[in-house]
Amino acid sequence: MKKRVAILGSTGSIGTQTLEIISSNSDLFEVEVITAHNNVALFAQQIHKYQPNVAVITNTNKYDELLRLTANCDTKIYCGIQAVCDVVQMDTVNIVVTAMVGYAGLDPTISAIKAKKTIALANKETLVVAGDIITKLAIENKTHILPVDSEHSAIFQCLVGEVNNPIEKIILTASGGPFRNFTADQLQKVTKAQALNHPNWDMGSKITIDSATMMNKGFEAIEAKWLFDLKPEQIDIVVHPQSIVHSLVQFQDSSIKAQLGLPDMRMPIIYALAFPNRIKTNFERFDFMKYPNLEFHKPDTKVFRCIDLAYQAMHKGGNIPCIMNAANEIAVEEFLNEKIPFFKIPELIETAMNNLSFILKPSLDDYCQTDLETRKYVKSLIK
Ligand code: NDP
Ligand code: MG
Repeated sequence: MKKRVAILGSTGSIGTQTLEIISSNSDLFEVEVITAHNNVALFAQQIHKYQPNVAVITNTNKYDELLRLTANCDTKIYCGIQAVCDVVQMDTVNIVVTAMVGYAGLDPTISAIKAKKTIALANKETLVVAGDIITKLAIENKTHILPVDSEHSAIFQCLVGEVNNPIEKIILTASGGPFRNFTADQLQKVTKAQALNHPNWDMGSKITIDSATMMNKGFEAIEAKWLFDLKPEQIDIVVHPQSIVHSLVQFQDSSIKAQLGLPDMRMPIIYALAFPNRIKTNFERFDFMKYPNLEFHKPDTKVFRCIDLAYQAMHKGGNIPCIMNAANEIAVEEFLNEKIPFFKIPELIETAMNNLSFILKPSLDDYCQTDLETRKYVKSLIK
């Protein structure tokens, strides 16, 4: 039976790659639902090309335009975030790829888990903000969360067949981003164009900036904590500029397993879609002779302060990771709007983490409130 896939954020980097994979493996997968936010032109093209059963545009202001562009299509077209939460619960959906960016992914992910859908999780912010609620719900509903993030997919792949063997620690690899060897002084002057120019990965703009500040790696540490039930002390970060070793697991007998490959997000996407099987692909194969030197370095957390902030948030827990995430979303947005310089991003996050009220055991409503308050607070610091 074909797996029927809902892709939340089909117009993005992960979303478009997921659609390509589905279309070149049409004997195995079918597109059931797609969603987008602003990019109506591409979304309309996708609806014409892939003919999903349902499409949802979350930005309600774009609904009329989308209806005009898809007038002759059979696809049912809805709008708004609540519609996404509803359609992921349809009986015809088997697996939900959460490829939308930011906090907006939280409610649809919760809704899909409650309907016992398998989650292929790209939207790491969901776990950063509310990993406690998400993992608890997944256990209660006996549903799988399969990682799409390449590091977590690597760890997940290393753990296959190790059910009774506890993890001693994991080692997350980080490319180091475009500013890998920069000093704090040099970071004072970097431009938006430089920050968007990632050396190894071609991704959406928000995660590309998160990679440049290395907040992305901090987020990934928290994501790993929840996915693999780890303590902060069990999560190490190593800078590996070639992005070939995607991450590693160390076991109690001292053995380390790693997963390797060229930096290509299609691999973790297809692994999550096809799990527990592996599908034959024509992706370029890794050649050791082209990479005689794989390097590993200690991350400089004095220069890349976001890593330390993320570990602080992970240790404190409660709503602090939610504050960190919301502050980061606003700071990155304002950096991309060229309203603040690059070095302000960690400063704003730290100020928010130190000044907003701490809640030890937040409910979903508390997270929602914290997110809103933090956004307002950080905006007030900028204006
Ligand atoms: P993109 O910016 O390329 O795409 C984001 C998608 O989310 C688009 O479809 C966009 O719609 C939609 N979207 C944006 N804002 C909202 C909103 N407020 N509500 C609903 N939908 C929205 O991002 P990426 O594909 O790069 O990343 C997606 C997620 O996957 C992120 O959480 C990222 O951290 C994670 N990830 C990405 C990797 C990558 O290689 N790109 C690797 C590992 C994880 P539209 O374009 O129509 O506005
Ligand atoms: Mg990653």
